Amino acid sequence: MRAPPDGSRMASSNKGWNKKKPTQKGPGSGKNPLLPPNFSGFQFKFSLGYVVVMILAVVLLNFFIFQSDNSIIPYSAFKDKVRSGEIKRIDLDQAYYTGYLQAEKKTDSGLFPQTSRAPTIYKTVPVYDPGFTALLDEKGVVYASVAREGNAVLSFVLNWILPLVFMFIIWRVLFKRLGNPGGNVLAFGQNKAMIVAEGDVKTRFGDVAGVDEAKDELIEVVDFLKSPKKYTDIGGKIPKGVLLVGPPGTGKTLLARAVAGEAEVPFFRMSGADFVEMFVGVGAARVRDLFKQAREKAPCIVFIDELDAIGKSRVTGAMGGNDEREQTLNQLLVEMDGFDATSGLIILAATNRPDVLDPALLRPGRFDRQVLVDRPDLVGREAILRIHAKSVKLDESVDLSKVARGSAGFVGADLANLVNEAALLAVRAKRKTVRESDFDAAIEKIVAGLEKKSRVMNPKERRTVAVHETGHAITAALTLGADPVRKVSIVPRGMGALGYTLQLPIEDRFVLSKDELLGQIDVLLGGRAAEEIAFGMISTGAANDLTRATDIARRMITDYGMSERFRHVALTRRGAAMLGPSEPYMAREYSEDTQKYVDDEIARMVAERYDRVLEMLRGERGLLDAISERLLETETLDETEFAALMAARSAKA
Ligand code: ADP
Ligand code: MG
Ligand code: ZN
Repeated sequence: MRAPPDGSRMASSNKGWNKKKPTQKGPGSGKNPLLPPNFSGFQFKFSLGYVVVMILAVVLLNFFIFQSDNSIIPYSAFKDKVRSGEIKRIDLDQAYYTGYLQAEKKTDSGLFPQTSRAPTIYKTVPVYDPGFTALLDEKGVVYASVAREGNAVLSFVLNWILPLVFMFIIWRVLFKRLGNPGGNVLAFGQNKAMIVAEGDVKTRFGDVAGVDEAKDELIEVVDFLKSPKKYTDIGGKIPKGVLLVGPPGTGKTLLARAVAGEAEVPFFRMSGADFVEMFVGVGAARVRDLFKQAREKAPCIVFIDELDAIGKSRVTGAMGGNDEREQTLNQLLVEMDGFDATSGLIILAATNRPDVLDPALLRPGRFDRQVLVDRPDLVGREAILRIHAKSVKLDESVDLSKVARGSAGFVGADLANLVNEAALLAVRAKRKTVRESDFDAAIEKIVAGLEKKSRVMNPKERRTVAVHETGHAITAALTLGADPVRKVSIVPRGMGALGYTLQLPIEDRFVLSKDELLGQIDVLLGGRAAEEIAFGMISTGAANDLTRATDIARRMITDYGMSERFRHVALTRRGAAMLGPSEPYMAREYSEDTQKYVDDEIARMVAERYDRVLEMLRGERGLLDAISERLLETETLDETEFAALMAARSAKA
């Protein structure tokens, strides 16, 4: 059985949160015998119905007030009726003269005068007519000046009661939005349906592929959740927060669900954007609410998707920042510090912009674990395709590894889309199974879209990147003292980098020798040198390498005293000690002449190193071609594969 003992119960009680009208909430529910059973604060539901009723009421009232106005007649006609003796009594007020056919004054009962029920009345708008009262006296008409008492009541309703009612309604609605977390008399503000623990998450690690490193890390998290005692007994600390970092569509959300599914614990999912609302304080209240509920359900997983929406660095806003987001972020930090790591509550978060996150989020005790969810390589893509192809009928001819080869640069979401598109194309062709040609057509379709987003490279670019990275890798392997190559890849990574060669130092280095620095420059230049050898021309792909190589060369001359002329002399700049030596705008403390020497020396040094690397790589042309070919095929080469390919060379030599 997968569901934890309280899983089903929880799932059903959570259904209530989905409803618009929370009925089982509020302090009064069922506890206080003095209150009606379903009394919980006010059960005031704002809907269009109320607005309609309100408008109708106003219209009716208006109609009621001015209903008698049907009988308005011209002043002259009114006067004629007085003269003819028809009108026996007149009420005079500022707005109207009201003439009655009977002299008796009717008794008013209730709020409203019963003028409307009088058999016949005439009304007129008065005209300045000094002789009028004389006429009335002559005809024996009873007349009196009256206050419009009936209308006064009505206008009181219109002017005072209605606006108050409206304001009350608006106030309720606002408060509802504010999501009062206290659960007191105003307990109508539990979060919208978003904070819903998903009881029985069906996703398993088997549904995720191509992100093995991330999976390995998260398997450990599942173990924390399943048997926390194992870790706490030894005195180990269970991580509170794990941050999934990676480009969009690589399966971060999927992985988080898989963790919940594997650990068989409830899963609270919220997107960072859900926290950010128009009103200051709403987001913070939601965070509080989320954690309150999560603590009650622990062990469980809280997953905050798109963390960057609230976790943006707080100092960036030159215009004073965003109060609401800051409050939300602060609340999140408070909550993360507030719970005990042994409580079995683990916070997962995902972002594709780790660079903008507030550093406070990454401090120990918060999201101190970061898991990279990277773009899949060839093998990974094939595995992902297999997962998604399970749900479609494939023709026997389809070779998914071939499809994987053709979909370089695709992330998991693209591949899921690819399988679906291919299936749709097969349906359109009225076939029962999906053929390889469907996949080809679907790839073309998707690539066109992705190229615009510059997520896939064309074959020529891929070749260039492969050769470039191979150049780095071979140079690193052949340079004495250079850090060993751990991984070579042409799977684009993060923003900007088209490929990468990962060198990991064997040990931490604090002091570098001159040769090691030169070796670093060589490795950086190796990429461009390889391009020159293979294609006879160079590309823009090395821009970042050149910046770094130049920087090392400059420091060697100005900071480390490693140049011919300024041996053991540091050409530091004023203020350098405080701000770091590479601040470009700082006044230098040496002459123009020296500056020129530094510039020339950098140029000479880099050119010299470049020529050396070029020569060395020319001698390894066969190796360069072989490894870059292999890299084009598999997209990534790990340490052992790379070492094996390099060993083939020494065997030949
Ligand atoms: P992210 O959250 O990283 O943007 P998602 O997890 O939302 O990406 O992925 C969207 C969909 O793409 C998933 O629901 C799944 O169908 C598919 N997908 C993405 N990555 C993978 C993967 N590594 N393995 C299997 N399917 C994947
Ligand atoms: Mg996502
Ligand atoms: Zn490079």
